[in-house]
Parts: sequence; C-alpha cells; structure tokens
Amino acid sequence: MKTLVRGGTIYSRGQAASGDVLIEDGVIVAVGDCRGLTGGARIVEAGGCHVLPGLIDLHVHIDDTIGRFRLADTWASASRTAAAAGITTLGGFITQRPEESLSSAVERAFERAAGRSFCDYLWHLTPTRFAADDWTEIERHLESGWLTFKFYTTYREIGLYTSYERLAEIAERLSPGGARLLVHAEDEDILAEARALIGNGPLRAADHGRLRPPEAELRAVELVAEIADETGAWFHIVHVSTPEAAEAIGPGRDGARLTCETAPHYLFLDDSWLKRPDGHRWLCTPPLRDAARAARLREMAREGAFDTFATDHCPYTLEDKDSGRGDLRSAPMGLAGIGAMPRLIFALDRELPEQAFARMSLHLADNPARLAGLEGRKGALAPGLDADVAVFEVADREEPLHSGGVGSPETYPGFHSPLWLRHLFLRGRPLVSDGAWSGTDPAPGRCLWTI
Ligand SMILES: [Zn+2]
Repeated sequence: MKTLVRGGTIYSRGQAASGDVLIEDGVIVAVGDCRGLTGGARIVEAGGCHVLPGLIDLHVHIDDTIGRFRLADTWASASRTAAAAGITTLGGFITQRPEESLSSAVERAFERAAGRSFCDYLWHLTPTRFAADDWTEIERHLESGWLTFKFYTTYREIGLYTSYERLAEIAERLSPGGARLLVHAEDEDILAEARALIGNGPLRAADHGRLRPPEAELRAVELVAEIADETGAWFHIVHVSTPEAAEAIGPGRDGARLTCETAPHYLFLDDSWLKRPDGHRWLCTPPLRDAARAARLREMAREGAFDTFATDHCPYTLEDKDSGRGDLRSAPMGLAGIGAMPRLIFALDRELPEQAFARMSLHLADNPARLAGLEGRKGALAPGLDADVAVFEVADREEPLHSGGVGSPETYPGFHSPLWLRHLFLRGRPLVSDGAWSGTDPAPGRCLWTI
C-alpha cells in the first residue's frame, strides 16, 4: 500500500524544502522529488500546504486518578483529540502507588491504553519506593529500552517527593543505561515556608502564586542542574513556568545534558485569568505567572530556550474544577490542552508561517523524539522512519481553539487560529483526510516501549 503526499512544503528537523513524501507499508520510503517512484500510489495533493512529521506531546495525563479526582479523558478520547490537532505520539505517566509493586503499576497503565489509543505512545515511569525489588524492576525496564523516568522534588504530602540526594543516586545508577530523568522542579522547603507564611484560611485562585512562588522553581532547577553537572546524567525539566528558571537551565547546556520544556499555558495565559470570578478553572501547578513573565517566556520560546513544548494535559470535568471554587487547596490542579497545542505554538510566529512550521518540526517532533530515544523511528520526515505525517494549511478563516477533555472547561476561550489540519497519517494509516476524521476502530496506536 503506497501513498504519495505530493507537492507541499516539507519541514523536517527545522529545515524547509519543496517536494513529496512517499509512504509504503507504514514507513517513509522517499522524501523530495518522488517522480518515477509513484506507480500505484494513492495521491494526496499537498500543494500550498505544509507537511510536517506527526507531532509529539510527551507530557499528558490520561485515564488516571489524581488525589480524589478522576481525569476527564480516556486514551480513546484524548488520543482522538490529539490526532485531530496533528499529534501522533503521546507520552503518559505511570506512578507507583505506595501499596503496589512497580510491575503492577505498569500492568495497570498498559491495560488502560492497550487497543484504545489513536496515537502511538510511551510511558514515563515514576517509582516512589526504591525497595531492592523496585531497583531490579527499574533496571530491567531500562535494559529493555524504556528510557524515560519522572520525579518530583515536591508533593511530599501525597508520597511523590524525591529528595535531591535520591535524584543524585538515581542519576548515578541509571544514566549509564541512557535514562532520561524528567523532573517536576519546585523546591519543597521553599514551598513549605510559603505555606507557613500564608496560614490555613481559605485561599482564592489568585493566591496560588504566593503558595508556589517562582523562587521555588528556580531553586529546584539550580539544584538539579548541579546534579546534572556532577553525574553527567540527562535531566529534563518539565513545565518550566518562569523565565528565571529557564535562564538558569540555559547556560548549563553545553557541559551537562539539561533540557527543558514549557507548556503553552505559561506562554499564552497569565495570572489575570486567576483573578476572574471563575479563575479557579485555570488552577494548575506550577501556577500561571504574571503577564510580564508570560511575555518574556514567549520571547525565550522564539529564541529557542525550550527544547520541547508539551501540554501537561490534565483535564477535569467542569463540575470537578468548580468544586475548587471555595479554596484553592481543595481544587483539582491541571488544565486541558492537548487539542490546542499545535495552534498555540504556531501562534508564536503567526506572521511568519514558514518559521512557525520549521519551529514546530524541531520543537514538537525532532527534539521530543530525541528526548524519548525515538529519533530512529519518529520525529522527522526521512526514509526509514514511521510514516507519521501531518499536512497543515493556513486558511483565511479562523476557528476557536478546543483544548480537549470530556466535559472540561475550555482553557483558551476567545483564542482563534487560522491553522487547519488537512491530513494526518499514523504509520501510513489515515486518521484525518481532507479535514475530516477518518480513524477507525480498532484504534491503531501502539506502545513504543516493550516490557
Ligand atoms: Zn504533569
């Protein structure tokens, strides 16, 4: 089965060129001028369109329980929203509960996604106990090619906290096997001081920044950067929310493998949203920062300060979000975002579409593929790689953004975009054709890790 995506502008690894993409048996077999190779191929016309690798979002929370709240997406609903936006690979999370072994945590997660995802997917594993048999399991996963692990320097109260000493030990033990250590960086001691200062009265959404101040992120990033320097391990800071932290990550990069991501909501929203009467609907962790910080983050994003963008998609129902109206400490923390990300990253340079698509090919495909160790399979338009291909067009008309989540409040009300997805292929299978959903059950997404 051959498909020729003909005559578009092709973006791969930050570079643009005109030409075709030839797909055969789920794999890209040729890129560029494909005349003469196309016998029997189904033709997809891409003239005037922008052809990118399928996009990758390595930070999504799906079909899980966080605290007392159930997330408002299954793998079927989240992956369909993602694919309709141009995303073909997702990175989810497996968090070990206090009472369970790592292997049963893994089984539990695999069952939720198997046969339900329209995107390919992988997992970041969060061990929380570090008993001897946990270490054996961790090392077994790493040997089988499972490269990404996630840790938190905060959330002691819910059993997720990992000390800096433990992070250094993890780095020493796992980095020889090629592990990438994702860190939610907020310093627990600084957060505890902030909590003590504020006291126990009810807090409004707009108080969130005082409860989780920028200094907590900066301090944790500085300490993780030291561990990265000392151990040579690859650390990746997730959802950077302040320019101060992004700047602290920047200069360390040549010596240490310290990479980072930010989420679109830190670029395009700010704490004015928290001051609205329904501001509790925009509560997430770390909190939305002030408008000056968001503006600086957009500048830094244009300058290339963030290796990747990822949504931290964490949708709740409107009812659950509104249960946090009275006091932010009882509110579910997290925002839907998976359906809006490509359009928001495009908006960073919307006056210069070619620059925007080149950026997307780098920061939403190539770099995240490398972070997950998938650069030989995903993230570029090159012969031999999976035929994950997104064909976009910039239209005269604009459409409102849809952040996603089943029954979730819209994260970006009033935002519009001229970016449209015309076609999407996952390993050569069409999921979107001529702007309409064409994915069929059984959902074709595969787990990219083996165990
Ligand atoms: Zn997250």
